[in-house]
Amino acid sequence: MSGDSENDNGTVKRSFAAHIFAPIKITWDQFVDLVVPFRHTTHIRRHAASVTISRVQLMSAIFAVLVPMFSIIDWFVFPWPEWAMMTALRIASGIIFFLLAWPWETEKSRLQADAMLMGMLLVPPVFYLSSIQIIQSLELTELGMLIAKLYSLMPNIVLAGLAMFPLTAFEVVIFAIPAFAFAIIGLFMEGQVLSLQVHGPALWLMVLVMGVAMFSGMSQLHYMAALVNRAMIDPLTQAYTRRSGNETIELLFRLSALQNTPLSVAFFDLDKFKTINDVYGHEEGDKALRTLADKLKQGLRKGDVLVRWGGEEFIAILNNTDGPGARIVIERLREAGFGLRPDGTPLTASIGLAERVQDNMPDWAHLVEKADARMYEAKRTGRDRAVLPGDVVLDFNPKAAAE
Ligand code: GH3
Ligand code: MG
Ligand code: MG
Repeated sequence: MSGDSENDNGTVKRSFAAHIFAPIKITWDQFVDLVVPFRHTTHIRRHAASVTISRVQLMSAIFAVLVPMFSIIDWFVFPWPEWAMMTALRIASGIIFFLLAWPWETEKSRLQADAMLMGMLLVPPVFYLSSIQIIQSLELTELGMLIAKLYSLMPNIVLAGLAMFPLTAFEVVIFAIPAFAFAIIGLFMEGQVLSLQVHGPALWLMVLVMGVAMFSGMSQLHYMAALVNRAMIDPLTQAYTRRSGNETIELLFRLSALQNTPLSVAFFDLDKFKTINDVYGHEEGDKALRTLADKLKQGLRKGDVLVRWGGEEFIAILNNTDGPGARIVIERLREAGFGLRPDGTPLTASIGLAERVQDNMPDWAHLVEKADARMYEAKRTGRDRAVLPGDVVLDFNPKAAAE
């Protein structure tokens, strides 16, 4: 540490925090999102759900094979009929794991992910409690006692397993509750009285394991959220990237077809944008793009989605909006303007509009293609205009077109 920074308390604190949190730089809001899941964006939620589901499936697939296979050990160490009961227990657990591992075609919601994870986590402790019932009355050999002791580690294994999932601290605690509950119930079932001296160290170890799982879960969630945001948000304009736009429009199209509601897509391409770059430089071009995105976002409703489709091309996904409704939106946006060129003249755009019902579009890709084709039509016939379904043309500056 340098002598200068030692004199400056604030710098020392900052540098200390930077060191212990390295390589993560985290804001207060991001930290809150690692503690509780309630404010996560749809993208983060969906991503975390699909990661959780695929990991539950992977673990379940492994257990679906291993758990029944270990019957072999039960056959060696337990007498009849206890080994048969243990085998039945193992087969039942194996079936549950198999069902969890099965690649069902589902929406992969957060609720499904939580339910599957809870289901997987409940099997080992229930197995443990049932095994106590079965083995309890037996005179066990040394080996038998060892195996029974190993079964009692199941709640610990569950806690350690939580480290595999991108979970908030709150979720780790919720998912850990059954493990603690079953461990304590197990003690009572074995006829033991809960004693701090005897059981304290084991429970303390469980808390530590949970703590490590919590750190791992939060850290995974943090990296996952950073990656998702980087892929989803365009850094220049803060609009959605094409990749996340694809996902969003695919989802909205499906919902709109299912609920039979309208869905409009407006395709914007700036007119003569290249000349800004050529005459005033790339920086000015970037500034114009940022202004345009701000203007569009200001003019859209909360449920609408703005996507940077390409360099100076944007699409606005207007959820639950029919052709006439979308026309009003476009007129309002044009009225508010798209910003100014560096020379002070207004920036204009060519716009194409398509609507799912009116254009009878079979899928989202055709819907965007249609809007793109109409944008091109607007471009071809003079720019600064919008082409709407049914070949309706909104010419925003008829005088200029006539010149
Ligand atoms: P038109 O009216 O026919 O659309 O003319 P145009 O010049 O807008 O069309 P064109 O597609 O030829 O040019 C798009 C330009 O957008 C080309 C590219 O240099 C510029 N561009 C794309 N992405 C960016 C960016 O991120 N920053 C800047 N400054 N320019 C970009
Ligand atoms: Mg273009
Ligand atoms: Mg252009």
